[in-house]
Amino acid sequence: MTIDDLLEIVKKNIPNADLNMIRLAYDFAEEAHRGQKRASGEDYIQHSLHTAKNLAKLHLDETMVIAGILHDVPEDTSRTINDIKKNFGDDIANLVNGITKLGTIKYRGIERYIENLRKMFVAVAADIRVILIKFADRIHNLQTLYALPRDKQLRIASEVMQIYAPIANRLGMWELKGQMEDEAFKYLHPKEYAKIKDIIDPYYQKSVDILEEIRTKIGEISKKNNIEIKIIQGRAKHLYKIYKKLQKHDNDINKIYDLIANRIIVNSISDCYAVLGLIHEQWKPLKGRIKDYISQPKPNGYQSLHTTVFGPGGRPIEFQIRTKEMHEEAEYGIAAHWHYDETFHSEEGTKLSNKKLSWVKELTKWKKNLDDNKHFLEDLKLDVFQNRIFVFTPKGDIIDLAEESTPVDFAYHIHTEIGNGCVGAMINNHMASLDTKLKSGDMVEIIVDKHRKKPSRDWLKFVKSNVAKNHIKQATRIKIPFMGKRYLN
Ligand code: MN
Repeated sequence: MTIDDLLEIVKKNIPNADLNMIRLAYDFAEEAHRGQKRASGEDYIQHSLHTAKNLAKLHLDETMVIAGILHDVPEDTSRTINDIKKNFGDDIANLVNGITKLGTIKYRGIERYIENLRKMFVAVAADIRVILIKFADRIHNLQTLYALPRDKQLRIASEVMQIYAPIANRLGMWELKGQMEDEAFKYLHPKEYAKIKDIIDPYYQKSVDILEEIRTKIGEISKKNNIEIKIIQGRAKHLYKIYKKLQKHDNDINKIYDLIANRIIVNSISDCYAVLGLIHEQWKPLKGRIKDYISQPKPNGYQSLHTTVFGPGGRPIEFQIRTKEMHEEAEYGIAAHWHYDETFHSEEGTKLSNKKLSWVKELTKWKKNLDDNKHFLEDLKLDVFQNRIFVFTPKGDIIDLAEESTPVDFAYHIHTEIGNGCVGAMINNHMASLDTKLKSGDMVEIIVDKHRKKPSRDWLKFVKSNVAKNHIKQATRIKIPFMGKRYLN
């Protein structure tokens, strides 16, 4: 795709976006990545453009589109975060920095890696935009996974299943979650994937005519009753979801009624119920399949009316009826809030804090959703993490520390010897004093002098953790009376 293709999509999805600024970001990234190729053989900039496109499609803002274009610049080119800061400002530079840091987590055994990534996702929760850009990046990586060797395919696909998809789910981004799962499913279980496709494809083929007939009919009756509706293509359900459903239903496709869901979007809640009535007048509903998620939303906040009816030829067809707001929420989840926040607040500061606020609000909502994955919810509990920061070792491990911790706390956290022998620290590759307060995301390297075995008592003035305090006290305890006696004897 070209920059003009991207700008077209931006124009459609993000009103008032500064297209010139996006073009400038493209020129900057294109120059930086020039000559680099992806494993697929494409120019590297294609990945940047696709990442940005995915963000635009979620109706996110211009800042995130620009950060999407620039997201791999500091890691893969000679241009630095500072260059980005100079050209595009602090906000965009911070976003790109956040994505770069998520990328530095090394793969060292799946268990540890998942733990690390989960912690990190929580750590950057303060700015959820980083996660959204990472999703956009990951979607394109999945789409070009075919070009990678099998071991990498498996690694990336399992990361998606185990980390990205559950997080997308928590954020209410069900459409994105489904997309990611389907791509990962293809690589993790190729045989099952092919089998499901073999069942589903002919089924959809057969449904095309029936669906057309239904759409026309619904169009007519709603017009007659003065209800404005928009029918969303009865799109195929995500394959991975079908795969899991089939396992529950003895692999009998006839037991699954919602293989194709017709979405009907109306203007108001009362229209939702009116359309439901009209559909039931036309086709007989299946018993036990009418669900009112409007008056009783699902625990994750999902709202819609569902019904399955015997359509033409007695074939069961599912309908999902909802308002535009409910639909956007269901498709984009937390990303849908950007849209609304933008329109209500003009001042930069309020906008951001509002976004943060809604993220916290959403999190607490999902905390109530105690279905699967309890451990993950435990990890997400805000109170646990509220006063913690997460910093990196040079090897990419994440250490969590109390807020206001210093390099000395970090050093003792790693090992007593490193604490005792520590003479200096590098934070994000810059020399820093030992009493510097660390921030989430910092990469900390401790400089150790092997000959120095004793910490300084002055450190007690600034260290935060009890572990560090105890070690320092112990190592600097004045033992003159005992030492004296011992030597005398
Ligand atoms: Mn990338």
